[in-house]
Amino acid sequence: MSQDRRYSFEFFPTKTDAGHEKLLATARQLATYNPDFFSCTYGAGGSTRDRTLNTVLQLESEVKVPAAPHLSCVGDSKDDLRGLLTQYKAAGITRIVALRGDLPSGMGMASGELRHANDLVEFIREETGDHFHIEVAAYPEMHPQARNFEDDLNNFVRKANAGADSAITQYFFNADSYFYFVERVRAMGVDIPIVPGIMPMHNFKQARNFVTRAGTTVPDWLAEKFEGLDDDAETRKLVAATVAAGQVQKLAKHGVDTFHFYTMNRADLVFAISHLLGIRPQGAQKAA
Ligand code: FAD
Repeated sequence: MSQDRRYSFEFFPTKTDAGHEKLLATARQLATYNPDFFSCTYGAGGSTRDRTLNTVLQLESEVKVPAAPHLSCVGDSKDDLRGLLTQYKAAGITRIVALRGDLPSGMGMASGELRHANDLVEFIREETGDHFHIEVAAYPEMHPQARNFEDDLNNFVRKANAGADSAITQYFFNADSYFYFVERVRAMGVDIPIVPGIMPMHNFKQARNFVTRAGTTVPDWLAEKFEGLDDDAETRKLVAATVAAGQVQKLAKHGVDTFHFYTMNRADLVFAISHLLGIRPQGAQKAA
């Protein structure tokens, strides 16, 4: 891993002022890696509409790193989406992560005028032309609701054809699934960058469930590395950083030079991973 690799870091908007301050502090620390952008998730159905907006605006204005809001279409009307696009455009935001989203359980069936992410990409292009660089999601191991892998590949191609500029993958632990996915979509004529999403699993027991629900396979070798560490957060952190660094190294060996980190709003693991890979922050700040 060398200094010319490129990074982006993902955050989620917090509910409390204290959490928000911590997020900004984390972002300032990660800004020392000179990332391409920060992204901030969006609660489908608009549950984090204001918090995502405010977080993104502050990341841009205070941390001075380009910020990309995630935007999902289930549960939001075209008017809701149009309103947000207008606000983002007026604030100088130029990148958006366009998703279908998952409504939280209890919010009923998916509603909204746009049903799939390709509809949202089309809508953003219709409303705002080429203003936004549009990222979409990619699933090397298939989206869990897809009918089958081939169908999911075709649906990914729809998003690219609708006007997506690049994609970020769901987290995965088997690099071969990423290589295979990329090979298949290239053969289908899609040439947009497909950036691997790296998820350091610092809380393995908790993360295992939601990772599996997202359709990601947790290999036995990974579970074995965390065996017996449920009550040992410090060692888990070391293991998580080592596993993620190994993953980045393997991808890099195959020519991947851009990585998206699911930070869970913490800087410490990214610092550890980067250190293991020989990357040094370009600014003065270090993880607390
Ligand atoms: P789609 O691309 O629409 O795909 C969803 C399913 O529908 C797939 O099974 C696909 O095969 C199928 N499909 C797609 N298009 C069609 C079509 N035209 N006709 C028929 N079937 C179709 N969720 C959030 O709520 N907020 C976030 O901020 C968020 N950020 C994310 C960031 C990344 C990088 C990733 C990978 C995921 C993120 N998610 C987020 C999760 C995401 O919303 C869920 O995985 C969701 O279930 C699918 O969203 P999508 O955009 O991939 O949907």
